[in-house]
Amino acid sequence: MSRPLVVDSVAALRAQIRDWRRDGLSVAMVPTMGALHDGHISLVEIALEKADRCVVSIFVNPAQFAPSEDLDKYPRQLARDLDRLRQAGAQLAFTPDVTQMYPAGFATKISVGGPAAGLESDFRPTFFDGVATVVAKLFLQASPDCAVFGEKDYQQLCVVRQLCRDLDLAVEIIGAPTVRDAHGLAMSSRNAYLGEAELEVARQFNAILRRAAAALSAGTDEGSATAEAGRALVKAGFAKVDYVAARESLTLARWRHGRDGRLLAAAWLGKTRLIDNVEVPSV
Ligand code: AMP
Repeated sequence: MSRPLVVDSVAALRAQIRDWRRDGLSVAMVPTMGALHDGHISLVEIALEKADRCVVSIFVNPAQFAPSEDLDKYPRQLARDLDRLRQAGAQLAFTPDVTQMYPAGFATKISVGGPAAGLESDFRPTFFDGVATVVAKLFLQASPDCAVFGEKDYQQLCVVRQLCRDLDLAVEIIGAPTVRDAHGLAMSSRNAYLGEAELEVARQFNAILRRAAAALSAGTDEGSATAEAGRALVKAGFAKVDYVAARESLTLARWRHGRDGRLLAAAWLGKTRLIDNVEVPSV
């Protein structure tokens, strides 16, 4: 398979997509921050099932990092990423730099309510504004027919759906299941920060959430199940738990027994913050 075409300007991106449109081809987009792993590649595979052409954006978006966060040390490995995209069959990589996305004088911010409230926002208050702004820009730049986002970042997926609904962005949002390693750890570019001992602890994250979700489905009240999961995470070796919370799976409103839910959590291992989530079936 040939190397994906790489463009780093909005003009070149639009020109390529215009060519595809002229040929009657449909376009799927996969927004990423690079350091691609099997989770990202699964999104590309879904995109290629859905559309004739797949464009993957690789952009470490400063607008979604707080000053105290890991923007500078976030892993960057473009040559390797392009290799992986070539193997996966993606046709186009869009790799803008910061000045391409946020030229001097940039002064607009998109702020989503609803599913963006609480959970991640309680700990990263500017995060979803940054995500919504960059996703809106990418969609306006590429005008894809559809875009694939991972359930790994479940609240983000709900926020992006809300963004498209509210702003009439005609992009179908496809949610993709979380890809995990053999021990259940959700793949993440940030896993590269973990040492061997931390990895061992991280691998217990999902099992603890699954146990709590099963308890919720079996009728345990939310406060007890989430508190117990929090204690189990600390006992496993997590340094700090930001939240463990059950929410309604579509709106992220308060969850009640008998409704389809999602159990979402964020916890720290050393300086690394991990998130994960699991389904809470309504049974
Ligand atoms: P990121 O590069 O971390 O911003 O992620 C780009 C996209 O990949 C987002 O839609 C993520 O939800 C998705 N993603 C990240 N990790 C995984 C995973 N383990 N499984 C599936 N999708 C993922």
